[in-house]
Amino acid sequence: MTAGRTPPRLEIRNLVRVFDGQPVVDDVSLSIRAGQVTCLLGPSGCGKSTTLRMIAGVEMQDSGEIHVDGKLICDTVFRVPPERREIGLMFQDFALFPHLSVAGNVAFGLKGSREEKRARVEELLARVSLSRHIDSYPHQLSGGEQQRVALARALAPRPRIMLMDEPFSGLDNRLRDGIRDDTLALLKEEDAAVLLVTHEPEEAMRMADEIALMRDGRIVQQGAPYNVYTRPVDKAAVAFFSDVN
Ligand code: ADP
Ligand code: MG
Repeated sequence: MTAGRTPPRLEIRNLVRVFDGQPVVDDVSLSIRAGQVTCLLGPSGCGKSTTLRMIAGVEMQDSGEIHVDGKLICDTVFRVPPERREIGLMFQDFALFPHLSVAGNVAFGLKGSREEKRARVEELLARVSLSRHIDSYPHQLSGGEQQRVALARALAPRPRIMLMDEPFSGLDNRLRDGIRDDTLALLKEEDAAVLLVTHEPEEAMRMADEIALMRDGRIVQQGAPYNVYTRPVDKAAVAFFSDVN
């Protein structure tokens, strides 16, 4: 099979979610290949997190389909449960388990023998430069270190898809750029399809292979960061992007 004919790792088709009679996600379609980062970018309240939660399987769409590697995993009648979707999740607050050590957090979703799990935990902690904290607990770590543990935990089971909802917004400004770059490098090595939700144009410009600009539940523009930035679709997009510096 040639690369062009391989189905995308993640494809969502015409997703709709209605709350209180209002469509908050309104006919959203996207496809992402393995190793690619798509940023779902838009202002607060435009429906980004709801879209991400439907892909994760913790929220049901009212219509539309989700496919992974060409296979249907969810429509309005058929639904693969969240724990069987091979999806890694990362949120703003990191949501580490406070009662588990760093090793325990990273090993949490892993299957296999004790030795295999330990090897994967050590590999990832070395990769995020946290080997010396393997037996520490989350409260003993800085925000940036907790972020790296959350990243290692999400990637440990080798997810096909990584969903990240504003994963850097809790971090100190001074650290953020470096952590974004390190995170991106690791995501590329692990080869998942990444959907990263952000309201910050600068973050999308820095991290995305493709930007999907969202407004009022709809994707209004989609393309390479440079193209979206230099050829904004309308005045509202110009205003939104004027935040980039
Ligand atoms: P974003 O992540 O872009 O900030 P959300 O997806 O969280 O946006 O929310 C989109 C809209 O849907 C918002 O107006 C929000 O208030 C509404 N919404 C989200 N979840 C629910 C819910 N469970 N019930 C009712 N309205 C909701
Ligand atoms: Mg949100």
